[in-house]
Amino acid sequence: MTRSDRTFQAIVVGAGISGLVTAWRLKKAGVDVGLLEIEKALGGCMRTEKRDGLILEKGPFNVLVRDDAFRNLLDECAGEVATVTASEAGNARFLYRKGVLHEVPMGPGGLIGTPLLSFGAKTRLLTGMLFSRPARNDEPTIAEAARRRLGAEVADTFISSIVAGVFGGDSRRLSLKACFPKAWQFDRRKWSPLLYEMKVLREKRRRLQADPELNRYRGLISFRDGLQALPDWLGRQLGDGLLPGRRVVSIEQYGGSYRLHCLRNGRGTEETFSCRHLVLATPAPATSRLLQPLAPEASDILDSIQSASLVVLNLAYREEDVGHPMQGYGFLVPASEGDMPVMGVLWADSAFPHHGREGTRIIRVFMGGPRDAQATERSDAELLDIATSALRGPLQLAGEPSLVDICRWPRAIPQYHVGHLDRVQRIESEISILPRLYVIGSYLRGVSINDCVREATELGERLAGDIMAERTSAAAARLNGTPASGAGRQPAARASSRIDSSVA
Ligand SMILES: Cc1cc2nc3c(=O)[nH]c(=O)nc-3n(C[C@H](O)[C@H](O)[C@H](O)COP(=O)(O)OP(=O)(O)OC[C@H]3O[C@@H](n4cnc5c(N)ncnc54)[C@H](O)[C@@H]3O)c2cc1C
Repeated sequence: MTRSDRTFQAIVVGAGISGLVTAWRLKKAGVDVGLLEIEKALGGCMRTEKRDGLILEKGPFNVLVRDDAFRNLLDECAGEVATVTASEAGNARFLYRKGVLHEVPMGPGGLIGTPLLSFGAKTRLLTGMLFSRPARNDEPTIAEAARRRLGAEVADTFISSIVAGVFGGDSRRLSLKACFPKAWQFDRRKWSPLLYEMKVLREKRRRLQADPELNRYRGLISFRDGLQALPDWLGRQLGDGLLPGRRVVSIEQYGGSYRLHCLRNGRGTEETFSCRHLVLATPAPATSRLLQPLAPEASDILDSIQSASLVVLNLAYREEDVGHPMQGYGFLVPASEGDMPVMGVLWADSAFPHHGREGTRIIRVFMGGPRDAQATERSDAELLDIATSALRGPLQLAGEPSLVDICRWPRAIPQYHVGHLDRVQRIESEISILPRLYVIGSYLRGVSINDCVREATELGERLAGDIMAERTSAAAARLNGTPASGAGRQPAARASSRIDSSVA
C-alpha cells in the first residue's frame, strides 16, 4: 500500500552527522526540510550505549574541534550537550612492539631514549626534520612522503600505525594530498619540516593570542552522555521534519522536483516524499545505488571508492583482573607486528573517566582494516576469542570480561587512495546535470566528524541561501507578473576545501 505523499522544500537523506548538520542549517534558516533515515537511532556511525553504568562508544570515540563551524555548533547546543575534555592521563600514547607496550616519545628528549627506533633511524629522523627533499610527483602516498622525509623506520613504525588509527587504512595506498592537504602543501615546496613546524606553531600561537575564544573546545573532547548526544540534539531541533525508520529505495525526477520512494520500518509499507531540493547524505555505496538510474557515471565512480571495514569491541573487566595500569589513551599496532591481530586499543576510561565506574576498566579494541579484511564477517565468539587471547599478555588480563559489546562497521571508513580528489571532482561534475541535487558525506573531503560538520555547514548554509533567493525572486515575479528567475540549478561552486582529517 502506498501512503500519502508529503512535500518539503528540501529533503536530506541520511541522519549521520553530515545529514543532521545540513538539515539543521536549512531548518535554522527557515527552510521547510525533511530528514529521512533508515534507522530509529540517529547519528549513523556516532552510536553510544549506556549499560551497567558505563558509557560504551560503539563507533567514533572522540572529536577534535578544528573549525569554526564545529565550534559554533557546540556553542548552539551547549545548554543541553555538555562537552568533556580528555584527561591529562589520556595524553600518553603507546605502541605495541614484540609483545611489549612502549610509550611514544612526545619530545626530542624522549625520542633519543626510546627503544622503539634504532640509532640509525633516530639519526635519519633528525636529519630529515632539518632538511629533506620535496615531492617530485604531484600525488605521493602518505608512506612515500613519510619515508622520504623521516626515514623508512619512522614511516613504517609510527606513521603507518597513526594512519591505520585514523583511516583504518594502508599508508602505502592513501594519498597525502587527499588525506592531509596541509602536509601535502608543505611537502610540495619546502625543504625543512622543522622550520615549517615552527612556523605553524608560531602562527597558531598568534591566532590564539588574537582570539582566545578559538581555544574554547581544545584537545580531544566527548560529551557527558557520550558522542550520540550531539546527533540526538540535532534531531530534536528538526521537529516533525525528522522522519526516522524510512529507507529511501529509489528517487524519481518529475517536473523540476524529486519524488523519493521509501519503505517504512522494514515492514514493507511504502511512502513517498517530494521536494525541489535534495541532499543525499548517505555513505558512498548507498549513494551509488540511489543515483544509478539518474546519474550512472557518478554512481559507478561512487561505487569504486573503497572503504575499510572495522569491528569495535568494548570489553569491561574487573579492575583486579587487569595487571597493566592502562593510564593513557591506548596503543596502536604497527603493520609489521604480524603476531598481533588487533589494530589498536583505547583505554576508554583513562581518557574519559566518566565512561567508566568504580572497580571496572573498559578496553576498546579495533579490529579489521587491512590487518584483517574479513573481521566483520567473523562470529562474535571468534572475534572475542581473537581479541582476548591477543591482549591477555600485553595488558596482563586474568579471567573473562564482565561485559562484551561488539559492533561491526562494514565498508565504513572511505579510503582516499591516490586519485581520490579527481574522483570527487568527476562525481560532482556528473551530478551537476541533476538540478538542485547535492551529495555530502565522509567519502568526499574528510572522514573526521569535524570535517563532516564543516562540509555540511557549508552546504546547508549555501543551499539555504539559494532557496531563500529563489523564494524572493518567485515572490517578486508574482508581484510583477513575470516568470521567476533562479528556477534552474544554482551552480554548486565550492570554495576550495580543506581537510583536517583528525579521527583520533
Ligand atoms: C568505527 C569508527 C570509528 C571512528 N572514530 C572516529 C573518531 O574517533 N573521531 C572522528 O572524528 N571520526 C571517527 N570516525 C569517522 C566518523 O565517525 C565518520 O566519518 C562520520 O560519522 C560519518 O558521518 P556521515 O554522516 O558522513 O555518514 P554516516 O554516519 O555513515 O551516516 C549515513 C546515514 O545514512 C543512512 N542511510 C544510508 N542509506 C540510507 C537510505 N537508503 N535511506 C535513508 N537513510 C540511509 C545510514 O543509516 C546513516 O545513518 C569513525 C568511524 C568509524 C566507523
